[in-house]
Amino acid sequence: MLLTYDTPIQYMTGVGETRAASLAKLGINTVGQLIHHYPRGYQFRGNIKPLASAQPGEVASFMLIAATEPMVSTLKRGMTVCKLRAFDESASCEITFFNQPFMKDVIRKGGEYRFWGKLTNEYGKLTLASPVVEPIVENKPLPNLVSVYPLTAGITQKLLSKLVMTALNALILRPDALVETLPEDVRKENDLCTLAYALSNIHFPPDFETLAIAKRRLIFEEFYNFILGAGKSNNNDTSTAPTLANTDITPLLDCFSFELTGAQKRAVCDIAADLSGTKPMRRLVSGDVGSGKTAVAAAAAFIAANNGCQCALMAPTEILATQHYSDLEPLFRQLGFECRLLTGSTKASERNKLLSGLADGSVQLVIGTHALISEEVKFSSLGLVICDEQHRFGVGQREALLAKAEKGNITCHQLTMSATPIPRTLAMFLYGNLDMSVLDELPPGRQKVKTFVVNEGYRERLNGFIRRQRDEGHQVYVVCPSVEEAESGEMSQEDIRLFDYGYDAEEIINSHMPPKAATTWVKVLEESLPDLRFGCVHGKMKASEKDSVMRKFAAGELDVLVSTTVIEVGVNVPNATLMIVENAERFGLSQLHQLRGRVGRGNAPSCCVLVSDTMQDSRAHKRLDVMRTTYDGFKIAEFDLGERGPGDFIPSGDGDVRQHGELKFRLANLCEDMELLEAAVKAAKKTLAES
Ligand code: ADP
Ligand code: MG
Repeated sequence: MLLTYDTPIQYMTGVGETRAASLAKLGINTVGQLIHHYPRGYQFRGNIKPLASAQPGEVASFMLIAATEPMVSTLKRGMTVCKLRAFDESASCEITFFNQPFMKDVIRKGGEYRFWGKLTNEYGKLTLASPVVEPIVENKPLPNLVSVYPLTAGITQKLLSKLVMTALNALILRPDALVETLPEDVRKENDLCTLAYALSNIHFPPDFETLAIAKRRLIFEEFYNFILGAGKSNNNDTSTAPTLANTDITPLLDCFSFELTGAQKRAVCDIAADLSGTKPMRRLVSGDVGSGKTAVAAAAAFIAANNGCQCALMAPTEILATQHYSDLEPLFRQLGFECRLLTGSTKASERNKLLSGLADGSVQLVIGTHALISEEVKFSSLGLVICDEQHRFGVGQREALLAKAEKGNITCHQLTMSATPIPRTLAMFLYGNLDMSVLDELPPGRQKVKTFVVNEGYRERLNGFIRRQRDEGHQVYVVCPSVEEAESGEMSQEDIRLFDYGYDAEEIINSHMPPKAATTWVKVLEESLPDLRFGCVHGKMKASEKDSVMRKFAAGELDVLVSTTVIEVGVNVPNATLMIVENAERFGLSQLHQLRGRVGRGNAPSCCVLVSDTMQDSRAHKRLDVMRTTYDGFKIAEFDLGERGPGDFIPSGDGDVRQHGELKFRLANLCEDMELLEAAVKAAKKTLAES
């Protein structure tokens, strides 16, 4: 059958239903998605060494002749080891394969093979443990660079590589099947190779230079398309919004028990200037945890109310909405305004009262979850929409709320607040259509949350530490990466082999060890600390159940709260002094920074302990170590951006601004590829201007 971009993957020879299901887990449903499933790395097997001249511990290729037939013996617990001897002109060595008994059939005595792996030398005894084996075939040179793909259970490197090869051969030979996606002039002006060339060489590069050429083109295109998508969505906006002329917030400031920080004052000034104009405000307030965004939001809401407009503040979770409500309601009541809460668990009678209050204008400020966008919610004069933690909402949800204010060409002002400090470069890129105020100053008197990275060996001491917090009258958060215990995936042969010579061993182990789950971990802790009071919250609970546990914790009726990241956002329990994060390597640094921000909110010294069994010298461990030494959310965000890409910062949810495909860049790295980004911005702007 003729393969096309859109051919479902199960119709490829050698795929079928089971493998198609596995491939789907990698996001591969069609042939087109397959050829855009790029390698995550490359093994350089062109480094061919004679056995005698390799450094101990060096990973290299060795061209060896098998001197013996491979012998398989069974070890304990069904493990097997397959051994043989092999030699080249310089020396001989032993080759061992763990749990790969089939190697017996792969290698023949007298045959010549390329072995790629780590050569160890113990007292003169040379050993290659579980190398990759490739038979040497006449007239068929072996590739120097071999792609390593992200995998899932049931899919091996070999299979993926074969499928990609088949797909590429089928598509590239037919120009109608693989259409060039960049305009000719853009390609020429920026010195970029064709799509066909890029795809062939990202998967099967003959050398590093060619790989770089392929990558450059694909990264450029990712940026280019992203910006085109963004540019189209906020073109020619001619709408207007109510002018809120009275921007005096002295009455509100008099209600605060503190003086605004310089950064807060600047943000409020920016907002006041926006609101008193006729153009709708589109402002993003970006500030670290605890930088005081709520006070800034309150100022905006106050200006709206004071000018006869209503304001809606939308928070992503019920916990957070409730917290905002309990912070702001007393203030607004004192100022003579009506403030109400609307969530999924608002009682019908209260809800009806609230709905009529919004419709007749007697309620000035409504705080809520996405319950606010339900159809029955109608405003008499909605002038300002505030979204807290904007990246948690899809644009669809925000637009739905904004639509409640729209009459013809008139819309309302919009303020979004992000507690994920967003690096400026990225913010400009993602929120090109938003003005930005940065809260880069924390209120005075904040203490650093001392941070430690420990492994399982510290478990006993950690439990003692939890108890001590309780004895001192404080509380503890424990965060786990998942809700329920999942079954561990099986290791594939391929994985074991990679694992054996430490190739990304960590990633492989982690993908096979089930992460700690809140629901089971809380039981383990309860057993170790039977005299403490535990609670558990996670995203699979009903909002009302979650709320009741949270309330108990906030009231000091629980000593330890075990949770998933549902507590990440905004929760405020100043009496909590210890934050423990289990499987910390599974979290983004920005996320860890958010979690850490849950403690250190009171006067008592506070700690954050990141528990991770990653190895000291591993990349994962070094990432975590950034948390120990860095307390500036913006710096952490920048580090995260370089390491993990912008995925964590990009708004998720339904109907996003940038409608096209995955928002995570596959290849591009916003920190490393700044120059290409700039070139792509230029090209995209030109394209937009010409269209
Ligand atoms: P976030 O930016 O994380 O949303 P919040 O708005 O929740 O931060 O503020 C965190 C805490 O700091 C709150 O208890 C708030 O009352 C307090 N706060 C805010 N601004 C100031 C300030 N200028 N001086 C002192 N405390 C402040
Ligand atoms: Mg907040």
